[in-house]
Parts: sequence; C-alpha cells; structure tokens
Amino acid sequence: MTTLTFDSLNPATGAVVGSHPKQGPEAVSAAVGRAEVAAGWWAELGAAERRRRLLDYKAVITQNLRPLAALVHEETGKPVGDATLEIVLAITHLDWAARNAAKVLGRRRVSPGMLGVNIAATLEYLPLGVVGVIGPWNYPVFTPMGSIAYALAAGNAVVFKPSELTPGVGVRLAELFTASVPEHPVFQTVTGLGETGAALAGDPRVKKIAFTGSTATAKRVMAACAGNLTPMVAECGGKDAFIVDADADLKAAADACLWGAMSNAGQTCVGVERVYVVEAVYEPFMRELADRVSAVKAGESYGPITMPGQMAIIRRHIDEAIKSGKIVTGGPEAVRAPFVDPVIVEGVPEDSPAVREETFGPTLTVRRTRDAQEALELANASAYGLAGTVFSRNTRRAMELARLMRTGMTAINSVISFAGVPALPFGGVGDSGFGRIHGADGLREFARPKAISRQRFAVPGMNLTSFSRGQEELERLIRVVTFMHGRRKR
Ligand code: NAD
Repeated sequence: MTTLTFDSLNPATGAVVGSHPKQGPEAVSAAVGRAEVAAGWWAELGAAERRRRLLDYKAVITQNLRPLAALVHEETGKPVGDATLEIVLAITHLDWAARNAAKVLGRRRVSPGMLGVNIAATLEYLPLGVVGVIGPWNYPVFTPMGSIAYALAAGNAVVFKPSELTPGVGVRLAELFTASVPEHPVFQTVTGLGETGAALAGDPRVKKIAFTGSTATAKRVMAACAGNLTPMVAECGGKDAFIVDADADLKAAADACLWGAMSNAGQTCVGVERVYVVEAVYEPFMRELADRVSAVKAGESYGPITMPGQMAIIRRHIDEAIKSGKIVTGGPEAVRAPFVDPVIVEGVPEDSPAVREETFGPTLTVRRTRDAQEALELANASAYGLAGTVFSRNTRRAMELARLMRTGMTAINSVISFAGVPALPFGGVGDSGFGRIHGADGLREFARPKAISRQRFAVPGMNLTSFSRGQEELERLIRVVTFMHGRRKR
C-alpha cells in the first residue's frame, strides 16, 4: 500500500522543506485510539508529576530553540528572530500552564451556603480525555501551544493536526515531547490537509476540539463536531483596530502601530489592520507613521506571504481601498509575489473590503475621527472582535475605551502585550470565535468541573428531600428563607 504524501515548501524560495504523510481517517482513528489509552495513564500520573514532565518538556524546547526557530523560518518564511520570539512566548505559556494547573484545577472546598450547613461541598476540574488541536501556519509554535500546553497541563492527551503549510514544526513539537514523556504517546501529531482535521473533529472519542484558523473553516469544524456534540474552542480571524487618542505619545503610537500591522507580513490574527486617529493629532501622527514606514521592507523587516492564495485577497483589498482612499505608502505595485511591501491607505470607506474583511497582509487603513468616542464606535462596527489597541496618556480614559472595545483583548500603549502575559485569557467574540486559551480560563477550557456534595450529618427535622417530609418542616423552611431572602432593598 502506498501512503500519499505532501510537501511543505519554503514560501520565499519554493524549495521543499519536508515531505509528510497525508493521514486519512484510519490513521487518525488509530492515533486517537492510542491517545485514549495514553490519556488514562497521563491522568493517573497526577498533577505533581505532570508538572515535572511539562517543565522538562519546556527545557527540551528551550534547548532546541535555535533549530526549531530555523525550521519555523523555513516553513513560514518569517525571519529567524521573529521565529525565536514566537517560541520564547510559547515557552512562557508552557511554564505557566505547568506551574498553575494544580492551583487552578485542583480540588477545593466551596461554601455550601446556609441551607447546606450539613454538606461538605468540593469542586475540582477533571481531564476530558483526548483533546484534538487543529492549528494554523502563521505562528506554528505559539498558537497551537496555547491549546496544547494548557490541555496537557489539565491532564489530557493531545492529537495535533498542524497546518499543511507547517507540518514539520508540528511533527517536531511532538517528537521533542517524547524526550520528557517516553512511556505513552500523550502528545501525537497527525499530518495532512483539511480532511485530516475533519477526521479528527468527527471522531467521537475526541472530547474537545481546539481549533485555530479562519472563521469559514471554524464553521465546518463546528458542523463536524455537532454530530457527536463535541465541544470546541474557536480561535478565528480578526480585523483589529488601533485607536490614537488626542493625548497619545505619537512617536510610540506610530512605532507600535507599524510593527503591529507589518510584522510577520501582517499575517497575525491580532495584527493591526484598521487605525482610527482623532482629528486633533491626525496630521502629526501620519507624519510619524510615514517617517518610519520607509525603513520597513519586505524581505528584510519581514518575510514573504506564506500562503500563496492570500496574494489575491491582499491585492483585491488594496485595489478596492485605493478606489476612493488616498495612498500614503505603497499601492498595487507593492504586491510582488511572494513579497508584499507595506501599504498604507487613508480615508478608505468603512464598507470597503479593506476595512471589513481580514486582509492578513502588511496593509493598513487609517481614518480620521472626530474624537475617541467615534473611533470606538467605528472600531466596534466589525463582525470580528478579537483584540485591539488604545494609545492615550490618560490611564482612566484608556481603560474605559479598552473596556468598551468589543473584543476579547485590548492592549494599552503597546501592541499585543496581552499575548505575552500567560495569566490573561486569549480569544475573541463574534466572527473571531469563542472559548479561551491561556490563563486560568484556558486551563478550565480543557477540563470538566466536577461538583461533589457530601452530607456530613443529618439535620433533625429538616429532611427536605424525602417523601416523609411534613408540613412542619416546610413551614420551618419558609421561615428560614423569609429571614434570609425576604427583605427588599428599596
Ligand atoms: P485555515 O482555516 O485555512 O486552516 C486552519 C486549520 O484547519 C489547518 O490545519 C487546516 O488544515 C485545517 N482544516 C481545513 N479544513 C478543515 C476541515 N474541514 N476540518 C478540519 N480542519 C480543517 O486557517 P489558516 O490559513 O491556516 O490560518 C489563518 C487564519 O487563522 C487567519 O484567519 C487567522 O486570523 C487565524 N488565526 C487565529 C488565531 C487566534 O488565536 N484567534 C491565531 C492564529 C491564526
């Protein structure tokens, strides 16, 4: 029998980086079967030993930082420095998940309340079993590790389906894990195209799917999950806004905005795509932006567009934007496959695809607003709701704008700083998805709450859950409830 394979390519050169099997339903099913057995062993191992093993895995990844960054560079085209930064972020998350799992998920007593004086109430978060992780290519270590590390720390086994553009990185992550956990295949990688992911999502023994990718694919994955009522986390795309208020540090804002938009060639789910600048500082901000953008170059500051199919989308967005917008930098000629030079267009109508749809390229639309309130309204007028940025020197005002931004995360006076804080949950609303990775919420996402109520003694004359309950007990209950809850506050 011949196994079909596919190649991963270096997007800058077209050279073959590696060849990997297209694993079909049978291979995926076998991996899930092995994972089920491994999940039982891993759960039995206990929180303390899992912590030790995961911290060891963290050390193994750290020791392999350079070769892993080189592989990320080859498969995505991003500069080695950016790949290194991405892996360092993943390491900090792995560390946090390992160290905090017992505290967040471990058994604890909770107050039983007045009516439960004779009850000992305990809560703990137990592993789900097998978790399927389906990942994208843009941050092939950091993004899936946000699910993998937290799922493993919560006591689950993981079957990971990396993007077909970055299978080598996915395979390497699981290989490195065996150095720390050689006994059972607690973390496996299956390779292939969309069908491989579909087989994983449709397997009834998978107890949760953590999907990261486009909104359109998330809907297909959700449909596959529906057949078995498999819950899922959906980490999808974004159209993140960047608000510059009148009192912002304009140099810092322009610097952060440019990096947020252009780094990784704009192929960042929480990348800056739309900028709203209050009128009072519009001109000076644009001067700062223009001053800096000339030094940013495709092929030097950032790599190529990783997914060839994205070129046409980027091109269409630029063409639509310049129909009525004014070019600040770049233009259609900026698109020179596989690279795209920075493109900034101002005054683009809000209904343009460049403002409404995820571009996923090194492009920015900038718009002048009356005030920060209008900037916020425009920022929120999006089907997406992943993250965003506010620049203002007034902490109270910035906090207020951040809270009112309809997104899962907002950074103030910095870009994407939330991603580097492991204690903060990461995820979106609306078309950006649902569920959370990272932080305590990210650990609980991969566990089921288990509630136990243990009666410590019988309360004489208060046996309410019995057919022997009499009118007298009911009257006593009404007196207690009236005393506790019967007084109005107004
Ligand atoms: P994609 O949706 O094309 O693919 C994602 C994964 O799903 C891949 O592994 C793919 O093979 C798999 N897949 C495809 N069809 C499938 C199916 N029918 N069933 C199951 N799996 C299937 O996304 P992409 O191009 O790899 O990634 C880019 C997108 O990811 C962007 O929209 C970006 O914003 C988003 N993203 C989001 C986050 C986040 O945390 N919110 C992080 C990174 C990327």
